[in-house]
Amino acid sequence: MTECIFCKIINGEFNTEFVYQNEYAVVFKDINPKADTHLLVVPRKHIESLNEVDDEVLLGKLMMTVKEAAKVAGLKSFRTVINTGKDAGQEVFHLHIHILAGSIRL
Ligand code: 5GP
Ligand code: ZN
Repeated sequence: MTECIFCKIINGEFNTEFVYQNEYAVVFKDINPKADTHLLVVPRKHIESLNEVDDEVLLGKLMMTVKEAAKVAGLKSFRTVINTGKDAGQEVFHLHIHILAGSIRL
């Protein structure tokens, strides 16, 4: 059984609502939003961080997912952030891309 909180969310253990999802990733609202809109794009596959990525196709799919999720959420302007490593502020060690829009409190 996985201890990873994002894997649990992907597995539906918390009934988290997905704003958007596709074959590669799910997108849901951050529990502690740092902007008016704060979404997380999370690959279905458990990868600890950007440092562990060796699949350039998946990375491309994730960036396309950012674009698609932003469109579904009605966002025209948004910031994307990937925290990589503890010292950079990564708290959850399952790769994810933040989408922030509106008033950003970072
Ligand atoms: P990091 O600091 O690792 O880049 O970002 C992790 C993000 O995940 C944080 O913004 C935090 O608020 C969010 N987060 C942590 N646990 C949960 C959770 O159980 N549900 C949701 N929706 N977001 C979470
Ligand atoms: Zn995971």
